[in-house]
Amino acid sequence: MKKTDQKVEKKILPYRLKPYVKFNGGFGALICNLCYKIIKEGLSKKEFAGETGQVLCANCIDYVVYHTKTKYEKGFLADEHKKLLRRFPTKYMNMDKYYEALHGITGIMTIDGGLIYHCDIIKALNCGIEDRNLTLAEFD
Ligand SMILES: [Zn+2]
Repeated sequence: MKKTDQKVEKKILPYRLKPYVKFNGGFGALICNLCYKIIKEGLSKKEFAGETGQVLCANCIDYVVYHTKTKYEKGFLADEHKKLLRRFPTKYMNMDKYYEALHGITGIMTIDGGLIYHCDIIKALNCGIEDRNLTLAEFD
């Protein structure tokens, strides 16, 4: 287990997080709320004020999604998906981009309903957080 993983393991995300801004030589830097790595430097005024911005680095997004307990190993049921989203700063995300990225994905049907794969959720989270569409490479 990597050192970063251990730090993350201890800290569970129970609610929406605010962007964490560090005054880094006056310009400000956005820090990952879990591993404290710098995500972005040279912030906009809004980001600097902590109003918008990414709160988790890509590694930690992966980590949170893959370490959330689900009934089925392969993916998330609708209510589990809803619960998972509470751990992310949806207030700061473009949720249209999020749902757009999830549109038309393939899932698996179970007796409890459809499952959404972990990897699809991660892609959608990145789109929502970065306010963008899926790239060609991400599209499958
Ligand atoms: Zn991180």
